[in-house]
Amino acid sequence: MIRYSQVLFLFLLLFLNPNHLNSDDESKPVAIVIHGGAGWFANMPQSKIDGIYAGLEEALDVGFALLENGNSSLDAVEQAIIILENNELFNAGRGSVYTSEQKQEMDASIMFGDNQDAGAVAGVATVKNPISLARYVMEQTKHVMFSGEGAEELARTSGQTIVDPSYFYSEEKLEQLRKQKKDDKLGTVGVVAIDANGNISAGTSTGGMSNKLPGRIGDAPIIGAGTWAENGGCGVSGTGHGEYFIRFNVAKEICDRVKYKGLSIVDAANQVINELKNIEADGGVIVLNQDGQVAMKFNTPAMARAYRHSNGTKEVKIYRDQ
Ligand code: ASP
Repeated sequence: MIRYSQVLFLFLLLFLNPNHLNSDDESKPVAIVIHGGAGWFANMPQSKIDGIYAGLEEALDVGFALLENGNSSLDAVEQAIIILENNELFNAGRGSVYTSEQKQEMDASIMFGDNQDAGAVAGVATVKNPISLARYVMEQTKHVMFSGEGAEELARTSGQTIVDPSYFYSEEKLEQLRKQKKDDKLGTVGVVAIDANGNISAGTSTGGMSNKLPGRIGDAPIIGAGTWAENGGCGVSGTGHGEYFIRFNVAKEICDRVKYKGLSIVDAANQVINELKNIEADGGVIVLNQDGQVAMKFNTPAMARAYRHSNGTKEVKIYRDQ
């Protein structure tokens, strides 16, 4: 459910943006790609599957409209992720999974490909939209990453929406924690976008892995592991077993293979995702290049994903073919 304040903010971004009023960039491609986590998506009621498709499409269309109207890819990434964070069907923000101590600890990061500016937060428990706090860290502090109590304090003093931890309560996810069944796993959310100025941005937000130990931090807030953006190269957001994404620096590794080996984003993403598969690390990535071309690769049975380009291409999928 989008709140009135969010609608108003989007309206202001869309219609009062100076880039929009002066835009002479209409021929430049804009594109956005989203993931809602890699996993199994099996044994789920159809209503939930429908809700995931709808949530992806809503985030996709809001992000795309911002790009089409001349807004920055950072705005598109942040606003699309906010929509997913506010949707309890995704493992980020409101829908975050539980730690082994039955608490939620969220991680998020954002990166701007023009100057490789980045911001991240880890282990936050009362911040409604961790992606906005990550952007605040990037734009308003001289640091890149905040964790735990320091991050909560920054959220309070910077005017982020603070919620009681009960906001994130979910009996279903507690039940999932109790059973720890693989087949209902939901992942992280992530968005990569390119705007009419040719700037690539990427962001990732997550509740992490269900049953993680308190204090565990995954790949999502780690620049280069779960998130990467570099103009002229590519932008990546990952989802999957974070420990492996950290150890193999997955997001940057993909872009480095494009940059230094001359691989296409599809080949680079395929290589890295298959290498993860060989060491039994589950996961997936979304990758976008300077032309707005996309790779959406995963080694799990499914990955919730969506893509839209100004050439008219649009797709929203969960399973391999649908
Ligand atoms: N990558 C996330 C983490 O390890 C979890 C996921 O994407 O499912 O925290």
